[in-house]
Amino acid sequence: MGDYAAHPWSARLAGRIGHHSPALLSASILGVILLGLYPPQSALALTMPIALLAFVLMSWLLMRQHDRRLCELCMAAMPLNPSELAAHYKTRFWLAHSGGKPAFLVPYLAVLIGSNFLTGTIGRIGWAIVQSSMIYLILAYSSHRRLQPWCPWCREGGGGQDDRDDVTPPPPSDRRQLV
Ligand SMILES: [Zn+2]
Ligand SMILES: [Zn+2]
Repeated sequence: MGDYAAHPWSARLAGRIGHHSPALLSASILGVILLGLYPPQSALALTMPIALLAFVLMSWLLMRQHDRRLCELCMAAMPLNPSELAAHYKTRFWLAHSGGKPAFLVPYLAVLIGSNFLTGTIGRIGWAIVQSSMIYLILAYSSHRRLQPWCPWCREGGGGQDDRDDVTPPPPSDRRQLV
């Protein structure tokens, strides 16, 4: 949608932030992990997780909004060799398709939440690794969105456009670990 004049500046700003929301989401997951590994002792201990949670939710909503419409920043950033790149991203595409299915999502969420009960140094490292897998999911999701015309799974099924909206990396566990 190139009709800039039709959108108020606030919608344009939201679009811009939405375009960068996968990076913002990844950064906030890193923030969650750091907070988990080094909990602050002061009053920050209470406000930081709440601020971070609000930030995660906002980035998430803006990302969903961004993904529903055409974005000129995305079009400008289109790679010159999309098919080569797509061949490279097979695992990510697969993940973007499987990520929304209960067979993947339910055990993944169980591991994600279960890892909160790990204790000790090794347990905390394990927890951090499990949580950081969410960043890869976000990466997979945004690469898939960008290169969808070259995704072998979308082409096979034919109905890729329809199930794209169901393919969502799971953010609700953030709420659990922050509270
Ligand atoms: Zn974009
Ligand atoms: Zn696909």
